[in-house]
Amino acid sequence: MNSQVVCYFNGSFVPLQDAKVGVMTHAFNYGTACFEGIRAYWNADERQLYAFRLADHFDRLRRSAHMLMIELPHDRDTLCEITRDLLERNAFEGDVYVRPLAYLSSEMIGVRLHNVEHGFVIYAVPFGDYIETGGIRAITSSWRRIDDNAAPARAKLTGIYVNSAFAKTEAFLNGADEAIMLTDDGHVSEGSAENLFALVAGELVTPPPTDNILLGITRDTVIRLAEDRLGMQVCQRSIDRSELYGADELFLCGTGAQIVPITQLDHRAIGGGRVGPVTTAISRGYMDVVHGRDGRYQEWLTPVYQREPDKRP
Ligand code: PMP
Repeated sequence: MNSQVVCYFNGSFVPLQDAKVGVMTHAFNYGTACFEGIRAYWNADERQLYAFRLADHFDRLRRSAHMLMIELPHDRDTLCEITRDLLERNAFEGDVYVRPLAYLSSEMIGVRLHNVEHGFVIYAVPFGDYIETGGIRAITSSWRRIDDNAAPARAKLTGIYVNSAFAKTEAFLNGADEAIMLTDDGHVSEGSAENLFALVAGELVTPPPTDNILLGITRDTVIRLAEDRLGMQVCQRSIDRSELYGADELFLCGTGAQIVPITQLDHRAIGGGRVGPVTTAISRGYMDVVHGRDGRYQEWLTPVYQREPDKRP
């Protein structure tokens, strides 16, 4: 790791290579941490780095932390400013992934949430595409998405990601790129780290919050873009597995994944095996928004550098 990179670790900025935890750390042993995945996009024309929906990510982090009985060390505005400062200190000039993480830090044996110390870190690393964005093969996972009554599905808790890891590796070992997980009662839930949208009989549908999904910030962005750019109201309802086979378009979305069209599901071509027009429009719209090229969504962007946009004639 580049020795110049700094992170924010329990109250101060330190070299990333010095931010270490011990092997007995509670979160390392029991998965008792919560985190966020945030992207910042480099706009080369403006020579500006835009962090996307920072405040919304820290709101979700606070909700996740609340479920773990962790209190975050700072309020939302301070967390946003620390993140901006962190990105500026690292002088990134390219796309970046930002990972805040609040964790149970005591070095002790004992599975519980109470009477345990807390730690907090934010680090950032250069980051390109997480998965192929040109049309992927997906399979329905034999692993069910964790049920909210087993562990809170709407919280972004590290321990829950073992569920995603099982599904993702099963997909990979079966020659596919991604897994779609169902709920315990057999409805479509989401991908291993993405929410899912389907175009069914001309209507854009996505599973509701009660089908054990993580309430994605990209999902929310897509709902807004579908309305603003395409005049389409997204319907949030439970979806059957076999509805997906007949869908005209299918795509996954998430901060890391961005907008990922699915062109094959369980060995069946979706929409003739080509990326459809709705997915293409959403994907283009999304890239415009996150790079600061669409003036309507400026409130979602935090510019990292204190420079005026380059005003060329
Ligand atoms: N579901 C899961 C399980 C995820 O890990 C993610 C990625 N954070 C998402 C959905 C998409 O959420 P977001 O758009 O907020 O990144």
